[in-house]
Amino acid sequence: MIFDLHCHTHFSDGLLSPEALVARAKERGVAVLAITDHDTIAAVGIAQKAALDAGITLISGIEFSSQWGKGGVHIVGLGVDVNSPALIAAVDFQEQARNARALAIADRLSKAGFPGALLGAQEIAGDATLGRPHFAQYLVAVGAVKNINAAFKKYLGTGKPADVKYQWPLMDQVIGWIHAAGGVAVLAHPAKYELTRTKMCAMVDSFVAAGGNALEVISGLQPTALTEDLLRIANARSLHASCGSDFHFPDQTWQELGGFGKLPAHAKPVWELLGFNPQH
Ligand code: MN
Ligand code: MN
Ligand code: MN
Repeated sequence: MIFDLHCHTHFSDGLLSPEALVARAKERGVAVLAITDHDTIAAVGIAQKAALDAGITLISGIEFSSQWGKGGVHIVGLGVDVNSPALIAAVDFQEQARNARALAIADRLSKAGFPGALLGAQEIAGDATLGRPHFAQYLVAVGAVKNINAAFKKYLGTGKPADVKYQWPLMDQVIGWIHAAGGVAVLAHPAKYELTRTKMCAMVDSFVAAGGNALEVISGLQPTALTEDLLRIANARSLHASCGSDFHFPDQTWQELGGFGKLPAHAKPVWELLGFNPQH
């Protein structure tokens, strides 16, 4: 039975609609799917309906942006009550923060010679909350750069003209939101923050101290040795283990829905906390 507990729709930075995402998950043999868009639950209601029709189980989820030290960290909430006032307030808080940051980025880009950046990026974003990927796409569309990577290298990345620093809420605040909404807090893709192992462990320790519940020991296709190492880190701290593709786009084969290794038998699966029988 495949649990994929991390993926994105076009309500954040993914490509597919909730309906198309659910259909693809079904095709790939996913039995239980959690949609975890960045700081929004807009897809969940639509996906619930599609999942019911497709005969797969949908877990309501969200991927919150949080702060650890000078850098960002992502915390996934699983099984959150999307109608909980705490969650609605949290989403609103994050949206305002993202909007303020987007306006600041647009202002910088305007000064760098792109006065149409705000409107252009908004058009690209459509339903999604405006963010850096949309500005990057805009810069590609107007021919300022060749591709998304170059947009970050030249304009949006660290130290570049439109690099706007933002302090996301700290882990204890974000985990508090998730718990208040009845959810389980998962530290997402711990190996993807470009930290040394020592620093990564310190991040996990902060997460535990802030009340976190689980570690995402599998994020898409990855070496078995990494899974085992992350599982060792999780088990040593009595954290449950989660797994997901972090699917965004159909052409990124290393992040395909359901396309990752099984949780090893010595993991405590996070779905035990979500009311599912332990199955591997
Ligand atoms: Mn993303
Ligand atoms: Mn993430
Ligand atoms: Mn993600």
